Amino acid sequence: MFEKIVIANRGEIALRIQRACREMGIRTVAIHSEADRNLKHVLLADESVCIGPAPSTQSYLNVPAVISAAEVTDAQAIHPGYGFLSENAEFAEQVETSGFVFIGPPPEAIRTMGDKVAAIEAMKQAGVPCVPGSDGPLGDDPAENLRIAERIGYPIIIKAAGGGGGRGMRVVHTEATLLDSISLTRSEAGAAFGNESVYMEKYLENPRHIEIQVLADNHGNAIYLGERDCSMQRRHQKVMEEAPAPGITEEQRRFIGERCTRACREMGYRGAGTFEFLYENGEFYFIEMNTRLQVEHPVTEMITGVDLVREQIRIAAGEPLSLRQEEVVLRGHALECRINAEDPENFMPSPGTITAYHAPGGLGVRIDSHVYSGYTVPPYYDSMIGKLITFGPTRESAVARMRTALEEMVVEGIKTNIPLHQKLCEDQAFIEGGTNIHYLEKKLGL
Ligand code: ADP
Repeated sequence: MFEKIVIANRGEIALRIQRACREMGIRTVAIHSEADRNLKHVLLADESVCIGPAPSTQSYLNVPAVISAAEVTDAQAIHPGYGFLSENAEFAEQVETSGFVFIGPPPEAIRTMGDKVAAIEAMKQAGVPCVPGSDGPLGDDPAENLRIAERIGYPIIIKAAGGGGGRGMRVVHTEATLLDSISLTRSEAGAAFGNESVYMEKYLENPRHIEIQVLADNHGNAIYLGERDCSMQRRHQKVMEEAPAPGITEEQRRFIGERCTRACREMGYRGAGTFEFLYENGEFYFIEMNTRLQVEHPVTEMITGVDLVREQIRIAAGEPLSLRQEEVVLRGHALECRINAEDPENFMPSPGTITAYHAPGGLGVRIDSHVYSGYTVPPYYDSMIGKLITFGPTRESAVARMRTALEEMVVEGIKTNIPLHQKLCEDQAFIEGGTNIHYLEKKLGL
């Protein structure tokens, strides 16, 4: 097992990774920007290295700086967390050529999944159901593109092969605007992702977002740990997540889970990963794979009892998975609210100093957060200041615990979206469960 790991991230996830390392007896190196000297995990780390100024391009995204932090501290492995360099295949490659272990999948798998056209192709090969679409990138022949759209049936969505973060997509309802929309998406994709390749998919009108968590090791083992429902979204950004997904049967779970693990084996995938699906009328449609730990991983941990970060580290160290598929037992229900430093009405970021902070507690309440009284939320990064997770034997009990915990949580000095979560917890459709990806925006009148 590793003796020392560099945590190449910040905020709550850096602290989450540090906690797993501590439990495993692994020493941690915190790397941070000049704006992040007071992060909780930096203060708690065995060693810390300042790698550059506040803007992430000069610090958390600065590959040579991150790798040299591992060199000067004599660490053996680098955990990228989520965001920043976590899905950057060149970074993963450079980590390995510099003699360190990248705690994540092989660079090749990151590269394939980072190109959505290639990802869809790999999934089809493995028998994972995909959205009906163009089966590959669109060419330049207008007549052919019109024919493809006709075959799929309107509405369709044009998507950038290199897209991410909810950008590089355009919905087309009629033939009249198809060709212009293709050119527009193409030039936007070129500018934003340096890749003009676009493809077409059937636009599903009222789907839910359901994703499957997998783990795969170097010994040919791959398991799925049930699903998460992340349909509560605003601007394609997840706001609240839960596991299991309301209404999904054991048979459906097994059907889709087994296809995901088969895909992992066929791709030679290693590490933690998430297969994202749209779910409509009882069918799953693959949209993309995330080759890293997800923000919402705790809801899966709560219902399976598996520490996903610990498994990631063990896998990277060459150890086999610590459990078999038959040992994955889903128990109870978990919810997660992303707590953001933002105005609950207009969603504007609200950085600043937290003058008072009280975390909720009690049976079935988990807080993953790096903030504390006196901590200043910097304006440079993501506005998420933590995650409030509740667990209960039933969905109803997890919701009741979430209401109590939100009520108990105090964050003063900055604005947070706690009031939005409180409103959601009283919402009749949410309480029933199974709302689609448009529900939150409709409720908010967007
Ligand atoms: P990104 O990598 O940018 O997150 P995704 O492919 O995961 O892109 O899609 C993001 C979101 O866009 C989905 O969660 C869904 O809300 C919407 N979306 C993507 N593809 C479709 C589709 N075929 N039909 C309907 N909505 C879609």
